Amino acid sequence: MDNHTQSYTIPLEHLLATPAHLWVGQHERVVPTCKRFLQQYFCAQKGCATCMTCTQIEQEQHHAIMWLSPEKGYTIEHIALIADTIIFQLDQGAHYFFIIQKADFLSPLCANRLLKVLEEPPAGYHFILLAQRPDSILPTIRSRCVIQTFPTLTDTRTHSTLFSFFTSKKLDPFLLHELLESSKINERESIELLDELIAFWLKHAKSSLQQGIISDYQYAQKACAVFTHATLQPPMPGSSKLFWKNILLQLHQLP
Ligand SMILES: [Zn+2]
Repeated sequence: MDNHTQSYTIPLEHLLATPAHLWVGQHERVVPTCKRFLQQYFCAQKGCATCMTCTQIEQEQHHAIMWLSPEKGYTIEHIALIADTIIFQLDQGAHYFFIIQKADFLSPLCANRLLKVLEEPPAGYHFILLAQRPDSILPTIRSRCVIQTFPTLTDTRTHSTLFSFFTSKKLDPFLLHELLESSKINERESIELLDELIAFWLKHAKSSLQQGIISDYQYAQKACAVFTHATLQPPMPGSSKLFWKNILLQLHQLP
């Protein structure tokens, strides 16, 4: 299985080239990552997190994505719904995603039905299975998927000082310099930290809007845009420090 396991980021083209994926990790971790991934694909600005498309994806209401979860019930009917959907041929170049959350809760019967669908889906249809315990997924399903493992949130907390730094508005460049020196954050950890920061600022934007604190809301939205934009050009090996200093510069320019 390790041969299939890849490091954290998969390029979008790679995801589109293979129909079946299994993302292994905590639900709270893989769902936001999956949404961000879809936003980067569907949004005209490659995942601005604020446009109509990005909002629809966040709210699981985008027309080209079907979200399935055991809470909504994994029954034969649900799997049949997938089979009924992929009967329709997509327009040339169009893509449709099925996100099967908590796929480790699929019953053997459902999993077997799903396997039939996964075997040769028509062009443009993609499956992303999210699961915490890959061992409880049928080996026949696993073998059809490109498997990607995401570290647990507690693992990524080693860089909690950097997280606290970027979630405050007091951005002292000297302090950042010190933190970067002591944390020795690498490229992979940098990408994970970006994910956490995006999740944090999205949540903050939502809550400040609900409380009617407009200045906070605006700052949170812009911070979110800075971090989201940074994911498009992740750090190259050895350039993590420079990467975070550049982010700080961009944050400093926010009103
Ligand atoms: Zn957008």
